[in-house]
Amino acid sequence: MSHPCLTCGACCAHFRVSFHWSEAEPALGGTVPPDLTEPLRRHERVMKGTSQRAPRCIALDAEIGVRSRCSIHPLRPSVCAAVPASWEFGAPSQQCDKARLAYGLPLLTPADWSWDTPANDDDNFDGSDNPNDGGHAPPALPPPIAA
Ligand code: SF4
Ligand code: SF4
Repeated sequence: MSHPCLTCGACCAHFRVSFHWSEAEPALGGTVPPDLTEPLRRHERVMKGTSQRAPRCIALDAEIGVRSRCSIHPLRPSVCAAVPASWEFGAPSQQCDKARLAYGLPLLTPADWSWDTPANDDDNFDGSDNPNDGGHAPPALPPPIAA
């Protein structure tokens, strides 16, 4: 069993992914490639492809429910890292559940994380020193992505 996000990708093809414009401004330390974004409201930009009726992020390389990867993973907007997968940190995630339901995928349960032990560490999936985080950080902010 591996990290459930690697066989999902539903949230990257269900929500509008908006963030402060400075995250796509290299001069201010922003990492998101500007050409993969477009303006939204006054202080926001959005990942291309996610502001449409059937959202799908331009950076998503996935067959939803089969395989998934973010092609800009180390550079992705902070909102992407802030969305937890359900039960990844011991609680359900409304956004994860909503996205998976939209694609007819079963909701994650605590059993989906049974592989996630120190002995089975995926060794820095997101390039950081956080073990077994699947690229996500523990939720510290309110849900940042609008439906
Ligand atoms: S957070 Fe949930 S919806 Fe998003 S890729 Fe992971 S399992 Fe799928
Ligand atoms: S930038 Fe990456 S993690 Fe964020 S929505 Fe797009 S594909 Fe998903």
